[in-house]
Amino acid sequence: MKLVIFDLDDTLVDFATTRQTAHCHLALVLDREGIDSTAFLSACTEVDRPLFTLFEQGRLTREEYRTRRFTDPFGRLGLSPRDGLVTHLNQVFMTCVNDSPLLYDDVWPALDGLRSRGIRTAILTNGPSDGQRRKLRATGLGEAVDHVVIGEELGVSKPQPAAFQSVLEHFAFEPAGALMVGDSPALDYDGAVDAGLKALLLDRAGSHAAGNRASIRSLQEVAQRSAALFR
Ligand SMILES: [Mg+2]
Repeated sequence: MKLVIFDLDDTLVDFATTRQTAHCHLALVLDREGIDSTAFLSACTEVDRPLFTLFEQGRLTREEYRTRRFTDPFGRLGLSPRDGLVTHLNQVFMTCVNDSPLLYDDVWPALDGLRSRGIRTAILTNGPSDGQRRKLRATGLGEAVDHVVIGEELGVSKPQPAAFQSVLEHFAFEPAGALMVGDSPALDYDGAVDAGLKALLLDRAGSHAAGNRASIRSLQEVAQRSAALFR
């Protein structure tokens, strides 16, 4: 038996488009509050990745991350949020991204293709537990794969080898029998290779420089590439 492990956000979930939709909802709230929504949401985008990295590394709690991703942009604009506004912005954002996430068109054909070849599937994600669980329910992905591991629940996140090993242990598989597919060169690809797994970097936009990492442009390539890798 073989195993393909997928990252969730920006690999299966079209998080960029989902976030754009969420930002449209946030803009309505911000406009009503008399806040420059374009400047505020641009600041949100800038502060989010560095804050999320601190969360992944266990240096911010989930609540600290969520508070700061909407509090820090107020600071950048020289403003202070009124009482309750940061909580409200988080509610609007999370309702959109967790309860109405968009999947890429190639997700279901890819999962069906692997299943028809007898290949097991799993999801390994670093996102916050509550939000990722909602996302898995809303999309049906939670039932569509054989196993899910969420970094916050495990207490260890990608790229640490223990995150990948946790998935392998569930199936009692050796690393060489597993393939990781994800959009992050450092978290998904390098982390998996360091843990002894095979890996494919999903580079949908063709934005990563050609290097030593094996890459694909679409999940449609996973079944064929995994057959060659597992031969
Ligand atoms: Mg990702």
